[in-house]
Amino acid sequence: MTKTEPELLVSNPAGQVYVHRLVPLPSQTYVGRPALFLDRDGVVNYDSHYVSDPASIRLLDGVVSVVTRCNDIGIPVFVVTNQSGISRGFYDWSDYDRVTHRLVSIMGPLSKFTAIYANSYHHEQASQGWRKPGPNMLLQSSIDYGVDLASSFLVGDRLSDIQAAYNAGLLQAAHVLSGSHSTERANIKSWLAQTAENQSRFSCLMLNTLQHFDPPCYF
Ligand SMILES: [Mg+2]
Repeated sequence: MTKTEPELLVSNPAGQVYVHRLVPLPSQTYVGRPALFLDRDGVVNYDSHYVSDPASIRLLDGVVSVVTRCNDIGIPVFVVTNQSGISRGFYDWSDYDRVTHRLVSIMGPLSKFTAIYANSYHHEQASQGWRKPGPNMLLQSSIDYGVDLASSFLVGDRLSDIQAAYNAGLLQAAHVLSGSHSTERANIKSWLAQTAENQSRFSCLMLNTLQHFDPPCYF
């Protein structure tokens, strides 16, 4: 497999944004198509907290089949991940790059991500919308590949993932319990309830794992 070099999208003193494009640009393949957005840690792979060792990467149940199904029906799959461990000094972008290549490798040849967006911001405000719940990684994928956000779907294990979907104009998302944050479901339900009037346009499925997610039903 050809090694995909990460492309730097944004850099300032508070953090950076990189993308690995597994489908190179320019690409017209997905213009106007819905996309599947996946958070990384706790959705694609086990979240061992500040994942930085490629050897520790283990895929969660269901992810390979979901991505393969999306590939089969022409739905691009984007990974959007907050990596504040970089700005906190726990690891660096070269560690992140090695983890990314390990992840792509173990997904296998029939289960392909379209692109993987990551930001290293620690503070939400300083991130200017790049750190989830900010929408910028999702918006950037739409700029890059022309995907239709309103018909897209996001799966996450944190409230901030679900809020990023909402903030990017998605109408649907799913929360999975495969992450290690046991309080998040309650936080999501509370957030949905607090703002139900304003958010009648937005729905969030409550699933156990990605094994319970069948892509053709949602696009
Ligand atoms: Mg997560």
